Amino acid sequence: MADDALPGLAMPSLRLEGKLAVVTGGGRGIGAGCALALAGAGAEVVVVSRQRDELGAVVAEIVRRGGHADMAVCDVTDDAAVDDLFDRLTRVDILINNAGTNVPQDFLDVSAPTLDMMLALNVRAAFRVAQVAVRRMMANRPEPERGVIINMSSQLGHVGAPRRTVYCMTKHAIEGFTKALAVELAPHRIRVNAIAPTFVETPLVREILAADPGLRAEALSRIPLGRLGQVGDVMGAAVFLASRAAALITGASLLIDGGWTAR
Ligand code: NAD
Repeated sequence: MADDALPGLAMPSLRLEGKLAVVTGGGRGIGAGCALALAGAGAEVVVVSRQRDELGAVVAEIVRRGGHADMAVCDVTDDAAVDDLFDRLTRVDILINNAGTNVPQDFLDVSAPTLDMMLALNVRAAFRVAQVAVRRMMANRPEPERGVIINMSSQLGHVGAPRRTVYCMTKHAIEGFTKALAVELAPHRIRVNAIAPTFVETPLVREILAADPGLRAEALSRIPLGRLGQVGDVMGAAVFLASRAAALITGASLLIDGGWTAR
């Protein structure tokens, strides 16, 4: 049946051709997966990380799959480096604000440097990168929309867990930031959403699981679907939220947690 036989029922496109996407923390793990996913959907991707050695492999794989990508070495906690990065881009349509980390510690053992480092990376840098990206998005045409921001939150932006006071605090901050920014930028036709994964087997989480022998079984016992996440579980969500298929979705947090928080 032709689309116009039922007006309004044409499937919105999941394609991202003509868009320039910036993915922070794209050198490995979830960020690398998002970069590959967006490039696979047709976006040109600027993959950002502190470490040059990680970036080459991600960009090479995107190109090998027929996509378009460039790399940018940038510490997102360095304001001047972030300004310089965005100054050098021709345009910005999509931001995946993904760089972040976790240092699990008992509350009473959390040191001031660890607290400051995690707030600087997981919260302040995410805010600052979004601010600089939005300045560039404002130059885009408003029809159908100027831009899309996806903040990488966590299921721990929704619930608590032991040894995660700092991480939970930072990810709950990302959830609040996402809602407030979505409301403020909606009149400018910029959508802002969060993705909130459970444990995803990335280099970061493999280190955390190795350091805590009981943790894998404990996590599995809380996930009704019975497995930890893989990077591929997040890739489709990134493309969906970046695309016109999510045109009316803003201020949302998409949980990818196998049911952890549904209990
Ligand atoms: P990871 O440590 O495997 O990868 C992080 C990437 O960010 C690396 O490429 C690293 O070089 C880069 N990075 C770190 N600090 C940076 C900085 N200051 N400037 C620029 N780049 C920097 O981490 P991951 O597990 O893929 O996590 C990515 C994001 O997803 C984080 O925000 C994390 O909180 C979130 N998350 C992860 C999980 C999980 O289970 N893996 C679950 C929920 C949320």
